[in-house]
Amino acid sequence: MESSDFEKLTPAMRHYVETKNENPDAFLFYRLGDFYELFFNDAIVVSDLLDLTLTKKSGGLDEKIPMCGVPYRVANQYIKRLVKMGHSVSICDQVEDPKQAKGLVKREVTKVVTPGTFIDEDEGEESRILTSIAREGKIVELAHCDYPAGKVYMDRKVCWDKRETESFLEKQFSLYRPAEILYDRAFSEKATIRKLAKRYDVLKNGEVSRDHRKILASYKELNREIDYDSVALANLLAYLEATQHRRQTHLHISAREDHDAVMDLSETTIRNLELVNNNHDNQKEHSLYAILDRCKTKMGSRYLRTSILRPLMDEKALNERYDRIDSLHGDRILFDDLQEQLAAIYDIDRLSIYIANETMTPKQIERLVKSLEAVQLIVRLLKKAENEAPLKIFDGVDLMEEISDQLREIFIDELPANYREQRFMAHGVDEELDRLFALSESGKQWILQLEEKEREASGIKNLRIKYNKILGYFFEVSKSYVDQAPEHFIRKQTLVGSERFFTEELKNREEEILHGKERALERQLELLEAIQKRIATKLPSIQHLSEAIQKLDVACALAEVAERYNYRRPRFNDGGVLFIKDGRHPVVERTMDEPYIPNDTYLDDEKVLLQIITGPNMAGKSTYMRQVALIQIMAQIGSFVPAEEANLPMVDQIFTRIGASDYLTRGQSTFMVEMTEVAEILRLATARSLILFDEVGRGTSTYDGLSIAWSIIEYIYKEVRAKTLFATHYFELTELENRYDGILNVTVATEEVDEEIRFLRKIIVGQSNYSFGIDVAKLAGVKEEVIERARNVLDHLESDGRGKAVESVRNDVVVADKGPDPLREKIRSIDINQTTPLEALMLLEALKEDA
Ligand code: ADP
Repeated sequence: MESSDFEKLTPAMRHYVETKNENPDAFLFYRLGDFYELFFNDAIVVSDLLDLTLTKKSGGLDEKIPMCGVPYRVANQYIKRLVKMGHSVSICDQVEDPKQAKGLVKREVTKVVTPGTFIDEDEGEESRILTSIAREGKIVELAHCDYPAGKVYMDRKVCWDKRETESFLEKQFSLYRPAEILYDRAFSEKATIRKLAKRYDVLKNGEVSRDHRKILASYKELNREIDYDSVALANLLAYLEATQHRRQTHLHISAREDHDAVMDLSETTIRNLELVNNNHDNQKEHSLYAILDRCKTKMGSRYLRTSILRPLMDEKALNERYDRIDSLHGDRILFDDLQEQLAAIYDIDRLSIYIANETMTPKQIERLVKSLEAVQLIVRLLKKAENEAPLKIFDGVDLMEEISDQLREIFIDELPANYREQRFMAHGVDEELDRLFALSESGKQWILQLEEKEREASGIKNLRIKYNKILGYFFEVSKSYVDQAPEHFIRKQTLVGSERFFTEELKNREEEILHGKERALERQLELLEAIQKRIATKLPSIQHLSEAIQKLDVACALAEVAERYNYRRPRFNDGGVLFIKDGRHPVVERTMDEPYIPNDTYLDDEKVLLQIITGPNMAGKSTYMRQVALIQIMAQIGSFVPAEEANLPMVDQIFTRIGASDYLTRGQSTFMVEMTEVAEILRLATARSLILFDEVGRGTSTYDGLSIAWSIIEYIYKEVRAKTLFATHYFELTELENRYDGILNVTVATEEVDEEIRFLRKIIVGQSNYSFGIDVAKLAGVKEEVIERARNVLDHLESDGRGKAVESVRNDVVVADKGPDPLREKIRSIDINQTTPLEALMLLEALKEDA
């Protein structure tokens, strides 16, 4: 805007423009009366985005100023929509009472709402995370903030190169699903962040400059948990202060659990195994999470989700979790009571921000108190039942009985929607408050009584108390009775036919009557403030308590599914044995009409390190493999498992290489992606890992693929020594069983009935020697002539190409075993610069003879 234009603006609009310039990137919601108004370009853009009516207002300029607005009471809904589109909104509020204001009401930006700091009043299962990323030397560091819950999770890793940085960041993105990202200006791989931000639907990302030492030092006083050298944390705190306009004293900062104690799941594995979302539409339904989530509280569900993404490797901790399930199992009555109480607990985790900011509404306080009471009852129930395992969760947890007792009956039953303008405090809580409300309610009553009293005392029959704006309340006595006016009547005004008086008593009460309600409401807010302050001091205890509730809720949920679906308590062994008896796929078994056929699995470090699974399409190979991985994960999150028996090793990582269709949308070559993943798996897997390979090598030609699959298996067998399930179409791979002791062929049993094959879904030792693809095509209703032709082609191939393929792979292997290849050595030794074309031809001939 031109400065001459600026001068022309009305004072209010001038203030608006100045305020807007403080935060040019955010839409400015400017409070005027009962509305937040937007002006100029903001109005044009936002009216379009939110479908609001665009109007105009004169503001001193020649042309009217574009304007639109939303009622302030429901503003949060509109803000939510903008934030979900990735925008930020700055809120400019009135910071003084308009009634007291002289001239323009004072207005200030009270906060800037961004996608990562928006507080959704509808409780949701997912957290909205604000992530700050920085790098110090080789260390990449992230601070993930769940703002409403007041929690920050720190994570860091030494990353040597760009690829490592990318894979670390990707894992972090997939674990935390940030809504907003801040990255340090000095961070070198910004393009990587932007790429991942796009892939993970991050709503907003932006650069921040470091404001390092000062801010950390200032927080040092407040919070001993702070890792003082973290740039990521410093940037986060600086950003929160700048947008929220207040100190972030409530944040509970914790390092992510020790990496050594947590199973590492890659993003691909999380997706392939459909741990928290399904692959079909990326929703919770039909995921492992959906099956296990019988939590009664939203915070329990969130905790369960995080637990699934971070299985533990700590046997003691896992056994504690199993113990809880076991003991909850045993007592149905107790269990039902617990569930009932859990259901009465609100999402108090989400209240943290209101508690910290001392802005809890009476409704929120009431919810907190009810939740506290439910927890107290839960602990009493557990104590009475002498149920030690779940009771342990509450060791050292402050149940806050005193505060909940004090706050119990402090509010009326039906809390008003607008607590600032109505009574919400119960009677008998505060004498002064009762008096003020009584006054305002009975003001008129009191006046009537006073009128009556004075009339009788004076004997003036038409003595009246009247009211007008200028004089307030007064007695009016007509001329003829003026002589009878009592002594304590003080003259105020003389009219033609009457005289007006006041008395000390009336004057004293007048103020109270006139402002009674206002003062009552003020007093009520003061009392509320005191309560808010008091609760704020308890925030750490409340956060601690909410963690305990989450744990109990998850334990109950897992106990419930364990009982409902017949899961069993797993065991761990140190001998590297993975034994599952009658294992089932927890999700597939729930979604099928027919009975699920259970399968056994045996793997160990020596005899069966690797299973090569052959069998027709649709026989159940991938279901079998996934079931093994899911059972292992369930065990390591502390859940019982869908099997008759499970004796498991502690696994450090699970890798999966399954399918590739989802990559097509990302525009990468399928085979390239497949091999990148394989490379990563071979690099990262250890002897304590579990690997699932489904159809590796499919993305290229048969021989190519077969050779690659072959050598991958050999490499795992010889070098990596990770337990591996390898499903394949390459029947030729079954040859490996003969070569290596630790490799076992298994297949899915089938049966032929009337020339049609039937899948028995039973995994048996051995290999399938047919190609069943054609049978499946037939089952699927492909035309008979196509099927016939396919059989011909197959016969032809089998007598020709297929045999050769195996042969060639075998030869390769033999050659490789012989050490350096003489032919190669010879070629290497040729110096092309010293060779004439004729010599080259002769050389080529000689080589051909050698070959
Ligand atoms: P493959 O990987 O061999 O092509 P899948 O594992 O995808 O086959 O299995 C195909 C279908 O067979 C599954 O969707 C499921 O409905 C069914 N299925 C798989 N395993 C079982 C089982 N153990 N019991 C019953 N049905 C099963």
